[in-house]
Amino acid sequence: MDKIKKAPNVLRLILGDQLNIKHSWFKTVDKNVLYVLMEIRSETDYVWHHIQKVLGFFAAMRHFAEELKVSGHQLKYIHLSDEGNLQSFEKNLIQIIRDYNITHFEYQLPDEYRLDEEFKSICNKLLISSKVYDTEHFFSTRTELANFFDGKKNYLMENFYHYMRKKHHILMDNDSQPVTGKWNYDIENRKKIPSKHVATSPYIFENDLSDIYEEIKKTDIVTIGTVNPTNFIWPITRAQCLKVLKFFITECLPLFGTYQDSMTPNDWSLYHSRISFAMNSKMISPLEVVNAAIEEWKKHPDEIGFNQLEGFVRQIIGWREYMRGMYWLNMPDFETTNFFNNKNKLPDWYWTGKTKMNCLKYAIGQSLNFAYAHHIQRLMVTGNFALLAGTDPDEVDQWYLGIYIDAIQWVEITNTRGMSQFADGGMIGTKPYVSSASYINKMSHYCGTCYYDKDKKTGDKACPFNSLYWNFYDQHSAKLSKNPRIGMMYKIWDKMQPEKKSELLNQAKYYLENINDL
Ligand code: FAD
Ligand code: SF4
Repeated sequence: MDKIKKAPNVLRLILGDQLNIKHSWFKTVDKNVLYVLMEIRSETDYVWHHIQKVLGFFAAMRHFAEELKVSGHQLKYIHLSDEGNLQSFEKNLIQIIRDYNITHFEYQLPDEYRLDEEFKSICNKLLISSKVYDTEHFFSTRTELANFFDGKKNYLMENFYHYMRKKHHILMDNDSQPVTGKWNYDIENRKKIPSKHVATSPYIFENDLSDIYEEIKKTDIVTIGTVNPTNFIWPITRAQCLKVLKFFITECLPLFGTYQDSMTPNDWSLYHSRISFAMNSKMISPLEVVNAAIEEWKKHPDEIGFNQLEGFVRQIIGWREYMRGMYWLNMPDFETTNFFNNKNKLPDWYWTGKTKMNCLKYAIGQSLNFAYAHHIQRLMVTGNFALLAGTDPDEVDQWYLGIYIDAIQWVEITNTRGMSQFADGGMIGTKPYVSSASYINKMSHYCGTCYYDKDKKTGDKACPFNSLYWNFYDQHSAKLSKNPRIGMMYKIWDKMQPEKKSELLNQAKYYLENINDL
């Protein structure tokens, strides 16, 4: 009898992106509770993930499990290659429930629609009671954005951002006004990095993950990208995440905003925080990230301009929360949106970086090497080209969902399908983010040494972005010409000589037909 009493009868599942040690679940040790974490094929195989992403999540999960055990929690950890691993949530859960005579199941709200649906269905099948908890991570609930925009004409991020600042009293005065009298400093944050400027090197780790790497290599899991498993650069514990955060606020924040949109072949993360994996896995919370930045600014207001701080805070309490709200508002329909009806394949060199276009070579190359590219590289280089090339948004999503260490569908698909590919027809972005070479040259140092000529629109070595750009507007005039934010481009296009137009369209046609050779 005694023995039965001591055995846990409640099972709590922790997903790989729910590594929030501050969650109220862990405040007390309850001998009735058995925690479970599992490495399973249904999670490694739904897309081709970057090897660093798989390693990062598994390593962080293993460390998290150790931390729980050390604190006295009862825990079952199912490793990828464990003999009893049935490789799916449902099968493993049923097995554990049987083995431990579990009478009640609990989990935290998944951030992905597919898992949300899967767990609802699993709970219906388990024949024991179940309960779902909040993850205690975000500033807003799943439905808060939907309520906020209910009855409004558009879904402008800026409006939601103001609401979040007011609600959480972030950088606000006592009259609920922005502390400096101004909401947004974006206009100051669009500088190209000077060519001789040497940016602070990113703070990286040398984690030895060779054991997990060997385990993965013994399976037939398909991964992309490269890694040095004995020098894994990303944080895999909360303590390491806090070090990255500290490094960011002290070394990078003073120039974060200024060079936020800048791109260079010499530095792969410039003054960006590289905190997205730490936050998306929930090892650290957006609240502590924002607070740390504000505290640092308060200590050094002369060194950290308000534009740097506001730009950073907006990314987190604005864009990040906004994307999550838009995801829950629009899924599952969002997954199939394709406003332009794009059907082309993603060029082969997205998987290798082997293209003569410098901007793409560097943006893809660093993505394969570090599982990272910063926002403007994702939006205005790889995303821009994919859209100009008429790529099927399904293909674009698969690529973005796999290649980045921070890629989880709620924040990947809203950025990719919405912001970058305009597949939602303008819910997230008010106009498609496309550009010719002139924007890329304005913000980067890629063009100077490129095989292609940024100034040429047609003819030998003409930069492909130039003709594809006009081809894009021409093709989609029925859908775009009435958009007030791009009417100007149509005026220029309409005024162009017919011969010039057909030269551009022929050049674009040639590039599209030979896209894998670019
Ligand atoms: P920083 O530039 O230092 O910004 C700080 C933090 O702000 C980020 O860590 C992130 O949490 C948040 N943030 C900034 N921009 C956004 C945004 N647009 N949406 C949501 N959060 C934002 N971000 C992901 O976390 N996962 C993804 O899978 C992802 N896919 C993207 C795909 C495309 C096509 C685009 C254009 C953007 C994508 N982003 C994604 C958003 C953004 O590019 C990354 O969050 C950022 O580059 C991560 O690097 P960082 O931590 O150095 O960010
Ligand atoms: Fe990219 Fe064109 Fe510039 Fe080359 S010239 S780096 S292809 S924008």
